[in-house]
Amino acid sequence: MPSRKSEGPSSCSRRRFLSAAAATAVAGYAFKLPGGTPARAEAPLTPESALRQLLDGNARYVSQRPRSQSPDFAAMRAKTETKQEPFACVLACSDSRVPVEIIFDQAIGQLFVARVAGNIAAPEVIASLEYGAAELGTPLIMVLGHSHCGAVKAAVAGEQVPGQISALFAPIQPAVDEAGHDVEAAVKANARIQAATLRKSSPVLAALTREGKLKVVAATYQLDSGKVDILA
Ligand SMILES: [Zn+2]
Repeated sequence: MPSRKSEGPSSCSRRRFLSAAAATAVAGYAFKLPGGTPARAEAPLTPESALRQLLDGNARYVSQRPRSQSPDFAAMRAKTETKQEPFACVLACSDSRVPVEIIFDQAIGQLFVARVAGNIAAPEVIASLEYGAAELGTPLIMVLGHSHCGAVKAAVAGEQVPGQISALFAPIQPAVDEAGHDVEAAVKANARIQAATLRKSSPVLAALTREGKLKVVAATYQLDSGKVDILA
């Protein structure tokens, strides 16, 4: 995957300490608002500002005022062809109704996304998110469950399924044990549990969290309203 090849964790750390203006010049890129006014994506330097940028984008999506979905795609590709500087990582479900960039109103190069049915923190997913946090320097990982999740429903039902689909069930089972047969409660519990798994099973992510350079948060997406809510 294309990356800032010459940069390691130490230079990522340096990036976070750049002044806001300098970081904006490095990480932000301009795109045209519908009115023709150039807008520049803010460069978040903290977990909190990254979360704010995600939630602001979701608010634009919910209120049907997106600004990232009508851009100059050719210019965006040119800006991001040889490097990527995403401001957040998102672990979401594969569900076709949860298109991550759209629901957060973000464009090419802004989010580092891992998607797997049930948004489970499988080993390859952890590896991907370690890359996003440690190598690309994103200060936030959001684990995003969603209402009416088929993977959670299937884990709750515990019925026979074809092929290897049941491989998804074991990581979701602790949420089912906690929430019982209430699918929406299990969705929330699962997002929290997968976030906890990321925090505790990865020494890389745990170290970044201890140093205050990373936050792992759990959230849910509502298919009806489009709203993302952070879970305590
Ligand atoms: Zn799902």
